[in-house]
Amino acid sequence: KKILIVFGTRPEAIKMAPLIKEFKKHTNIFETKICVTAQHREMLDQVLDFFEVIPDYDLDLMKTNQNLFDLTAKIITNMKPVLDDFKPDFVFVHGDTTTSMAASIAAYYSGIKVCHVEAGLRTFDKNSPFPEEMNRQITGRISDYHFAPTSTSKENLRIENIPEERILVTGNTVIDALLQSVDKVNNNPSTLIKSISKTIGNSEIILVTGHRRENHGEGFIRICDALKKIAKDNKGRFIIYPVHLNPKVQEPVRLILSEVTNILLIAPLAYQDFIWTMNRAKLIITDSGGVQEEALSLGKPVLVMRDTTERPEAVEAGTVLLVGTDTETIVTEALSLLNNPERLQSMSQLHNPYGDGYACERIVNFISELQN
Ligand code: UDP
Repeated sequence: KKILIVFGTRPEAIKMAPLIKEFKKHTNIFETKICVTAQHREMLDQVLDFFEVIPDYDLDLMKTNQNLFDLTAKIITNMKPVLDDFKPDFVFVHGDTTTSMAASIAAYYSGIKVCHVEAGLRTFDKNSPFPEEMNRQITGRISDYHFAPTSTSKENLRIENIPEERILVTGNTVIDALLQSVDKVNNNPSTLIKSISKTIGNSEIILVTGHRRENHGEGFIRICDALKKIAKDNKGRFIIYPVHLNPKVQEPVRLILSEVTNILLIAPLAYQDFIWTMNRAKLIITDSGGVQEEALSLGKPVLVMRDTTERPEAVEAGTVLLVGTDTETIVTEALSLLNNPERLQSMSQLHNPYGDGYACERIVNFISELQN
């Protein structure tokens, strides 16, 4: 069976890397090729290096100030020669990006079966002006097979009348990636990590990330105001903030936070350095999806700077608190957690609903057992 795995951004690369590895273990059954759209470039390449993934096709589509019209059109047209050349039996896409949506349309036009990894996440907010929910819904409509990370995501697909036998609950492949990487990371800290360690000494750290379109503009200004307050009231603690490369994130962050001495604004961390930093953090403040899933595995509490979530499992598990982007709410919740070690301790021992590290094995077994 011929498998084409398509992705374009950093989080997709992290979550597809262990699947590539799993398919490539079975060369007697599968011929596996990788296509990157490079919707992100630098952040994607860093992950490819770490996981030693070499793309067979690189569409190299990232352009500065790219809009979604151009990107979508280019992915669809540039996928055609790839599909014509390799003629895969299955195209694998991941999650909710423009790459997932457009690549699945291209596969559908070529009559190729589409497999969706991290299927069934929903906010059900069709009026959202941000593309993720529509991307994941469209990808779900097109897909033939749906690999749902949790039973909640399976239920969402059942509500949309996806037949039971086309859905497999697997856990999230991000946990496979994390568990396969964590020892390698802890045993071999990079020069950057050694230098960060030296700066922070024994101080507690708060790790921050943010990138979502829904927080661009006012949202990031309120978030930065909150971080400034937290830093000022916690001189003995450090905030480590790897700032996403999007200029809409860089601008407010640099403007509001560059002068604060106990906030370390740094470039996006290499995946392995990021895992090290998560592991070292007392608290994580983020709007990221993947970080919430990883944090649960590492026993770290997370404040999520969003009003809605397609990951209710983490909120129900009790390690994630949805705090939105109101300055005072972020400050109050962060301080109430940091100043309550017992609560932090109890949150660190909760069960992770996102999986056990065997998601990729389940996916590959499922495909190998399909009759055609
Ligand atoms: N990540 C990373 N370096 C960073 C920040 C995040 O490698 O500086 C990783 C993190 O481990 C997680 C993924 O990137 O697996 C999350 O990506 P992002 O927040 O950009 O996207 P989302 O998960 O929200 O789609």
